[in-house]
Amino acid sequence: MPESPHIGVLALQGAFDVHARRLADLGATTTLVRKPAQLDALDALVIPGGESTTFLKHLERAGFYAALGAFVHTKPVFGTCAGCILLAKEVTNPPQKSFGVLDIAVERNAYGRQNESAILTADTALPGGPLEMVFIRAPRITRVGPSVEVLATREATGHGASSPTLVRQGRLLAATFHPELTADTRVHQLFLDIVRNATHP
Ligand code: GLN
Repeated sequence: MPESPHIGVLALQGAFDVHARRLADLGATTTLVRKPAQLDALDALVIPGGESTTFLKHLERAGFYAALGAFVHTKPVFGTCAGCILLAKEVTNPPQKSFGVLDIAVERNAYGRQNESAILTADTALPGGPLEMVFIRAPRITRVGPSVEVLATREATGHGASSPTLVRQGRLLAATFHPELTADTRVHQLFLDIVRNATHP
């Protein structure tokens, strides 16, 4: 294993800088990915939050969608918020193209206008006690497949039943919140552990 895994952060749009800094603080070598050819050198990738429709527009360029599709089907990938939407098997509100590699269904912008952003604390399967989660026009995970592990959940509110917020399917990790916006490093640390295991089982 490379002592320091090489992790790319997709930097077409959205909250990429903070992810890269967090991963570097935890010992990864990071690259901001703006061209499909940069994917070849990477052990893993973070697809950050932002606007999934805008990501899709940028990805239409120069074979990027196909190259990224091949990457997410083989390497460790962490998708947050819009990134989670891009990985999902099924997207609603409205239906939208996605890589379909993570066996979940997501509903975009699912928490209503009054509730566009929220900071909530909830129990998590991660060691170390409750997890603070920052939601920004977040999607809701409405279905998880049998191979998907739920690591954190958002409590039921006026906007519906409780829903998973952090899920893992083998080498794939996805969050509907923004773990890069809190001081807690456990979610990025988990991704690094997944990457280290995948590159050097
Ligand atoms: N609402 C955005 C979307 O549907 C996601 C928001 C986010 O990434 N913070 O793509």
